[in-house]
Amino acid sequence: MTLSATERLKVERDVTAAATEDLLGRVTAYRAGMEPDAVALAREELARRGVGEDALLEHAGGTIIGPDGCALKCSVCHRPAVRRGWGWHWLWGVLPLFPRRLNTCPRHAARLWQR
Ligand SMILES: [Zn+2]
Repeated sequence: MTLSATERLKVERDVTAAATEDLLGRVTAYRAGMEPDAVALAREELARRGVGEDALLEHAGGTIIGPDGCALKCSVCHRPAVRRGWGWHWLWGVLPLFPRRLNTCPRHAARLWQR
């Protein structure tokens, strides 16, 4: 399926405004859940920003893929998850209520229990 002219314009605006790290996630970890034209636009924007294939491969490394073929998201932010384990569900960020499974990006990996 291809994007209509209106959809394409909307995606172009979104891609232009997106952070480079966000675009890297779209063209690697989350590409299975996106329209091919939207992935192509994101790749073109990355190329305009000077991000090459090496950066794409490095970004995709270690991402955890879910049963639907899409990468799992970090439980804390929108980045692709690279680790899975147990952590606490916190009430208002101050009171640990119960343990739960967490997916984390490298930035939030410290939230998992240490082995
Ligand atoms: Zn994260």
